[in-house]
Amino acid sequence: MIHIRRAQRARLAAEVDEQLPGLGDGERRQVLEDRLREQAAAEAEDFVWRREQAAVEQARRDAARAAAQERAERERAAAQAADAVRQALPCEDCGQDRSAGLCEACGYRRQTKALVVEAGLLAGTWSAALDDADDVAATAAHVQATLEADIATARREFLQLMDPGELDADPVAAASALAFTALQAVQQAAPQYRRCALAMLGRTEEAETEARRAYATEQNRRWFRANPNGADAVAAATKAADTARERTAQHLLTERLQQLREQAAARPEAAGSAPWTDRLPELAARPLDGNVAGAVIA
Ligand SMILES: [Zn+2]
Repeated sequence: MIHIRRAQRARLAAEVDEQLPGLGDGERRQVLEDRLREQAAAEAEDFVWRREQAAVEQARRDAARAAAQERAERERAAAQAADAVRQALPCEDCGQDRSAGLCEACGYRRQTKALVVEAGLLAGTWSAALDDADDVAATAAHVQATLEADIATARREFLQLMDPGELDADPVAAASALAFTALQAVQQAAPQYRRCALAMLGRTEEAETEARRAYATEQNRRWFRANPNGADAVAAATKAADTARERTAQHLLTERLQQLREQAAARPEAAGSAPWTDRLPELAARPLDGNVAGAVIA
């Protein structure tokens, strides 16, 4: 700092000597002192200005940070309030309080119902006359009755394993556990409906035609013609035929499911499952004594 002052003083002295040559020593010193004071005042003013600017900038940053914090806090509070409102909503299906719109048991019941409907459609793809609404409905009803029997068995087993006092102590949890038991029973049975549909559609005329065509294509290959009865040649042709058959079955399944879904959407009242779905919450809402198992099975 002292070095800088000394350098400044030397620079100002040179300036004074240049601008005001011939000053007496006393005058020269006075002029130099005045200029040094002016210079110091200007520097002090500059320093103060810079410090003020820095303070303004710091205040601006602090305000922005505070505003961002406040906004985050407001958003958090709003999300919390919205979540509280959502949690407080009753179950759409059974009306149970504080269920966030759908209680656990009804969530399982919806999944169960969807799987039962899907199984009915899968069975319909091969066993029903697709444009005969009554036939389609009868197939769905049969599947539904079969799966309901599975559900009844699973429920009975569940109730036999449970202590009735335990079930009565927490009816909401008991209803949920029963609904989950029903869902599991249907989940176990459901894949069989798809496998069965694919197997049956693989035996349709369309699938047979595609399988024969694929086999013939293999037969026409040069290496097959050279040894038409060789094990490898026959195996390759058989594999090609099977693949064509499976592909056709899958294609038919997709196409027919689509058709059945469109038909069902066009006649929602004819779905046939409404009375059953209405019955599920009612069943779950009954007191869980020995009579329930009987009622469910009946
Ligand atoms: Zn519910």
